[in-house]
Amino acid sequence: MRLLIMGAPGAGKGTQAALIKDAYNISHISTGDMFRKAIKEQTATGIEAKKFIDKGQLVPDYVTNNLVRERLAEADCAKGFLLDGYPRNVEQAVELDKILAELNIKLDAVINITVDDKILIDRITGRRTCTKCGASYHVVANKPKQEGICDVCGSELIQRADDTEETIKSRLEVYYGKTEPVLSHYEKQGLVKNVYGMASIDEIFANIKKVLGEF
Ligand code: AMP
Repeated sequence: MRLLIMGAPGAGKGTQAALIKDAYNISHISTGDMFRKAIKEQTATGIEAKKFIDKGQLVPDYVTNNLVRERLAEADCAKGFLLDGYPRNVEQAVELDKILAELNIKLDAVINITVDDKILIDRITGRRTCTKCGASYHVVANKPKQEGICDVCGSELIQRADDTEETIKSRLEVYYGKTEPVLSHYEKQGLVKNVYGMASIDEIFANIKKVLGEF
């Protein structure tokens, strides 16, 4: 299965992506996670990306598109993949169409998680993320078993540097200005499956499985 997951920052994409990847045995490709890894390892891509990520802006398309092009050509993606956080603007969506055509493959569905604006800021400021595996928690709604420690791998949980109220405002502006129009691109291709995201993690996941049921 070849999927995209979309939704505003804080909609719960990462949490659902982790469940989808296990249930369908596909590779989870998160451009945000790839950039955070590159920043930690201080690669040239990481150093370039950090300048934009810290301001809540998009990393330039030539950097991001190349990263995704190389990743999708890796062997594990042949069994299927879930792209999370890409494409973030219409230009990237057009580029992804080209990458997929080069690989002679097509997307099966675009899952769009819908959430009311007003709860996004709370979800993002309350988010805690694992420094090692990227698993995501919330200080009230989705606590780890032991405070500050990841249930999955036992590593430390932190607040992402770009999960501050200041940065969130520009991330939401970027989302509504540039990323939301990507949905129309995929609506024209008949691929969008909307899933209501103001429910429990399990309920949202059950609905995702329902909309993907035909596969
Ligand atoms: P995320 O973890 O998906 O929220 O991404 C964190 C940050 O990484 C974003 O705010 C952007 O600065 C950058 N980023 C992630 N994916 C992309 C993308 N497809 N295009 C440009 N920048 C991206």
